[in-house]
Amino acid sequence: MNIHEYQAKQLLKSYGAPVSDGRVVLKAEDAKTAAGELDGPLWVVKAQIHAGGRGKGHFKESEAGEKGGVRLAKSVEEAEMLTKQMLGKTLVTHQTGPAGKQVNRIYIEDGSDIERELYLALLVDRVTSRVSIVSSTEGGMDIEEVAASTPEKILSFSVDPATGYQAFHGRRVAFSLGLQGPQVKQMVNLLGLLYKAFIEKDMEMLEINPLIVMTDGNLKVLDAKLGFDGNAMYRQHDVANLRDETEEDSKELEASKYDLNYIALDGEIGCMVNGAGLAMATMDIIKLYGAEPANFLDVGGGATKEKVTEAFKIITSDKNVKGILVNIFGGIMRCDIIAEGVIAAVKEVGLKVPLVVRLEGTNVEKGKEIIANSGLNVIAADNLSDGAEKIVKAVKG
Ligand code: GDP
Ligand code: MG
Repeated sequence: MNIHEYQAKQLLKSYGAPVSDGRVVLKAEDAKTAAGELDGPLWVVKAQIHAGGRGKGHFKESEAGEKGGVRLAKSVEEAEMLTKQMLGKTLVTHQTGPAGKQVNRIYIEDGSDIERELYLALLVDRVTSRVSIVSSTEGGMDIEEVAASTPEKILSFSVDPATGYQAFHGRRVAFSLGLQGPQVKQMVNLLGLLYKAFIEKDMEMLEINPLIVMTDGNLKVLDAKLGFDGNAMYRQHDVANLRDETEEDSKELEASKYDLNYIALDGEIGCMVNGAGLAMATMDIIKLYGAEPANFLDVGGGATKEKVTEAFKIITSDKNVKGILVNIFGGIMRCDIIAEGVIAAVKEVGLKVPLVVRLEGTNVEKGKEIIANSGLNVIAADNLSDGAEKIVKAVKG
């Protein structure tokens, strides 16, 4: 789960991290008051979306200006004008994809004078099963690009969970970034509190890009991106409350309400499968027959008729879906339940695309009978490859 930059900064501030004073604005008419509460003489007007690269992004609408989603203002009036230009517009960055994301919140910050921009991140390293600290002198840049072209400029090491964070970790980062004097102590403290926040809040990723050295020599967190382990939300209610549902794929959001494991993809074949392994195999075999899956969907072991109905509705609500493949191996899940769910859903939302159903396992005969007697135009398949072949043929001709 991700949160907005201003929420991330509030959270890190509560741990003692140095951040700028700022105000979040949801309505353009509040911009002037918000900016007026900050000292100036420089203001930063920042579009809040769950994607990075905002500064180098562009808006779809011309009235928002061609420039990016992070802009500097020299007066309260200018900050107000920039907020009005950006609110409600669609910002496209290299992380949003071409569709972009609508800007519904603006963060106005007291501007900082920058001497150097650095990069600092904490993340769960799956190779070492530890928390890794990543730092670079190349802040404000796309870190993937730095990693590809000048990997020697990135320092990365993991923290032993038995000792946790130690001051020498911080000193190692500080020296590699060329920090001096009191900055070294600042870095040791900053990394310590970031590590504490990371562990206590069940984060998966904490990225500060850039961490700046200001002209007065002090360090400051200028941008912050936090990602949390979705499976820990049951014990992170404060974090869960920061969820902004408008940032999430509406189909994935709907699926999460029904406890369905659904990931939206951009192909044309909708898939309804039970079991994550079978769902992966189904996606593979669809590709093998020359088409692309529109989603990953595991309805789970003990799905009810209602759950199956919802799953089917979510698949058909995807405008890219040109055909649906239902692939169920009945173990705990019974084939007749799936059949009833599919029919209930089709009766409710209609069926405008070809549907191939492959059922196998518990109560398979009953399931096939329910579908055969439904009067629906369903193509029956005998096995996995037969099902994939039939749905691709039905869609592509
Ligand atoms: P991102 O493009 O989504 O990563 O947004 P950032 O918050 O990282 O801002 C992009 C860039 O805007 C930074 O790398 C800085 O160069 C610049 N910027 C952001 N805040 C300030 C500020 O307070 N003062 C100045 N001078 N520049 C800023
Ligand atoms: Mg940034």
